[in-house]
Amino acid sequence: MPLLLAAFATSANAERFLVKNQADYAATAKTLKAGDTVVLANGVWRDFEIVFSGQGATGQPITLMAETLGKVIIAGRSNLKLSGSNLVVTGLVFRDGYTPTGEVISFRRAKDDSASDSRVTEVVIDHFNQPDRFQSDYWVGLYGQRNRFDHNALVGKTNQGVTLAVRLDTAGSRANKHQIDHNYFGPRPSLGSNGGESIRIGTSAYSMHESNTLIEDNIFDRCDGEVEIISVKSGANVVRRNLFLESRGSIVLRHGDGNLVERNVFLGHGKPHSGGVRVINRNQIVRDNYMEGLRGTGFASALTVMNGVPNSPVNRYVQVENARIENNSILDSSSITLAAGSDAERSATPKDSAFSGNLLQLTDGATSIIAEDDIAGIAMRGNILVGGASPFAGIVAQKLPLTRAANGLLYPPMGIKTGAPRDLTVARLGDVGPAWYAKPAGAVKFGSGAALAVSPGDNSLAKALQHLASGSCLVLAPGRYAVDRTLLIDKNVCIQSAAGGRATVSFSRAPLFEIAVGGDLRLAGIDIRGDDAADAVGNAVIRAAIEPMPANFSIELDHVDVRDLDVNKSFDVIAIGKSAMAGSIRITDSNFANISGMVVSAESETDDFGRYNAEYLDISGTTFDNIHGGIVSLYRGGSDESTFGPHFRFEKNRVTGSGGKDRAAIKLVGVQQVNIRGNTFTKSGALRITETTGSPMMTLIDNDFVTTQLPVLVAQGGRAAPPLALTGNRVDGAAR
Ligand code: CA
Repeated sequence: MPLLLAAFATSANAERFLVKNQADYAATAKTLKAGDTVVLANGVWRDFEIVFSGQGATGQPITLMAETLGKVIIAGRSNLKLSGSNLVVTGLVFRDGYTPTGEVISFRRAKDDSASDSRVTEVVIDHFNQPDRFQSDYWVGLYGQRNRFDHNALVGKTNQGVTLAVRLDTAGSRANKHQIDHNYFGPRPSLGSNGGESIRIGTSAYSMHESNTLIEDNIFDRCDGEVEIISVKSGANVVRRNLFLESRGSIVLRHGDGNLVERNVFLGHGKPHSGGVRVINRNQIVRDNYMEGLRGTGFASALTVMNGVPNSPVNRYVQVENARIENNSILDSSSITLAAGSDAERSATPKDSAFSGNLLQLTDGATSIIAEDDIAGIAMRGNILVGGASPFAGIVAQKLPLTRAANGLLYPPMGIKTGAPRDLTVARLGDVGPAWYAKPAGAVKFGSGAALAVSPGDNSLAKALQHLASGSCLVLAPGRYAVDRTLLIDKNVCIQSAAGGRATVSFSRAPLFEIAVGGDLRLAGIDIRGDDAADAVGNAVIRAAIEPMPANFSIELDHVDVRDLDVNKSFDVIAIGKSAMAGSIRITDSNFANISGMVVSAESETDDFGRYNAEYLDISGTTFDNIHGGIVSLYRGGSDESTFGPHFRFEKNRVTGSGGKDRAAIKLVGVQQVNIRGNTFTKSGALRITETTGSPMMTLIDNDFVTTQLPVLVAQGGRAAPPLALTGNRVDGAAR
C-alpha cells in the first residue's frame, strides 16, 4: 500500500503519498484531491503509462513529483497524460525508451478530456525516440486552457514529428493562453524530411482561430530539424525574448494573423541555413529583434517577407498585409528576401506594410537585400545599412562603428535609435530547463579521446573496438588485418594507420563496419581490400542500417585506398538503408578501384515523401577507377519544401571507367545544393542530375569530360532545365 506521509500545511486535508510501483500509483491516483501530492520513488520506472487526472484548486494543485528531482527515470514504452485542472508535474526524466502512443506528454486523456490551469515544470525528455525515425510522435502535446510548460529540457529528438505541438483541434483548446517559458530546446539534428519543427502552434485547418499562446524566454540550441524551428499556424501568438543559438531554419509565421515576434536574439555564429523570421499573412509584427551571424538565404533569410497566393486556400500562402517590421538589428547576416517565392501561383505582393527603423549590416552589402517582385507595398523609412550602397529609398547607407555592449550585442553609437533596443537581455543557459539537468555538450569529435595502438593478430581490431571510449582512435601498426566478423560502430571511432606505414584491412564477412545508434566512423590512411569477402550480393564495406535507426551519423574517409570489391555484383563501399540518415559523409584524397557497386549508395528513400539518406555528401581530391555501379547515387523524391538538403559537393576528383552506357557515373535526384567543380571524367557514364523541387543551387564548373557521355539534366515541375550554373566545362578538350 502507498505510504502516507505528513500532511501539507496548505490544507488540513492535503496528503502526500510516496508510491513505489505502478499498482500503488494506480490505486493512489484514484483518490487524489485538491492539495494532495503523489511522489514517485526514485529509480527506473519501466513501461509506465502515467495517467494523472484530478481536480485541484487555485493554490491547491494536485502534484505529481519525483522523490528527488531528476532521480525518477521513466523508461521503456512510457508516457504521461494529464486531465482535469490545477495539476502540477515535476522532476521526471523520460529516457531510454519511447511512447507507445502519439505523444510522450499529453495535456489530455481523450479528445474531450483535457487539462487546464495545469503545469509541467522541470521535466526532461532526452532522446526518447521511436526506433524508426519516420514513426511520428509529439514529445509534448498542449491542449486545454491556460497551461504552463516551463523550465523543461527537450533534447535530442531524432524521429519525425514536432517536438512540442499546441493543438487547436477542439473549441476548448483555442484562445488558450498557454505559456511556454524558460525551456531548453536542445539539439535536434536534421531530420531529412518535413516534421522536424521544435514548436508548432496550430495547423492550417485551424489557422483562422486565435491561439493566444505565449512563447518566451526559451533557448533553442542547435535546433536543426527542418526549415521551421517554430511554425506558427494560428493567430494572436507572442514569441518573445527567446534565444536561437546556432539553429538552422527560422520562425515561420506560416498561417494565422496578428502574431507578435519581439525581442528575440538570433546568434547563428556563421552556421549554414541559420535564419530569422519569415512573414506571411496579415497584421504580423516583427520588432526589436536582434540577429547576428545568420547564413540562411531564400526562405530562411534573416528576414523573409513572402509573396502570397491571390485568394489563397488556408494551406497555401495568404498575402502579406499590414506587416510591421520595425527596429530590428540584422548584422553580419547573409540575406534579407522580400516578395520571396514570387512565381505564377505566388503572385500577390506584400501590401500596406512597413519596414522601418531597422539596422542592417549584411555580408555582401546591399546585394544581400533581394526583392523577388514589386515591393511598393512595403513602406521603407529610417533604416540604416552599414556598409555598401543603399538598394532602396528608405534605407540609408551610413558608415557607423558597431561596438559590443554589456549584453554582448552590437550597437551603433549612442544617440542613434535605429535597430534593436539597448535593453535587450540574452537568455542564459543557466536560466532555462531544470537546474539539475546538465545541458549537452557539443558532438564528440573524431580523435578527441585517447589513441590506442593495435598490432596485426587474430581479430585484434574487433577486440580493440570493444572497450574503446567514444572519441578515441585506433592506431594500426603496418601489416595486414584479417577481420572475420562485422564490426559494430556504436560510438565515435577513428581508425588510422600509424606513422611510417600503412595497415591493410581485409574482411571475410560483409559489411566490415555496421553503423549503429551513436556511431560515427573515420578511416584514415588505411587500405581496404575486398578479395577475401564472401560471395554475397549487396555487400558493403560500411553499412547503415539494416534496421531503421533513430540517430544521425558521420562517416569520414581520408587518404583511404579501397579496391577489389568485385567478388559479386553490387558490392558498395558505403550503403545507407531506409530510415537511416548520414549527417555528413566526407571523402578526401582517397582512391577507389575495381568496385562492382557504388562508392556511396544513398538512394533508399524511394517513397517520394521528401526524405533522403545524407545531408552533406562531400568528395574531393579522390580518384575513381572502374567503379561499375557509379560513384554516387543520392536521392530525394517528392515536392515537399521543408528541407535544406541534401547537399552534394564533388571537387577536384579524377574519374575513369566508372558507370557506363546505362549507368550514371553520378546520379542525383532532388538534391538542393550541387557543386561539381574541377573534375576529370574519362570513359565514364553520364552525370545524371534531376531537379524535383525547391530553389536548388547547382553549379557544374570547370570539368573535363573525355570520351564520356554528356551530362543529362532533367527538370520536373514545369522548368525546361534545372537552374544550373554551367561554365568552363570541356568535352574532349573543346570548351562547352
Ligand atoms: Ca514544416
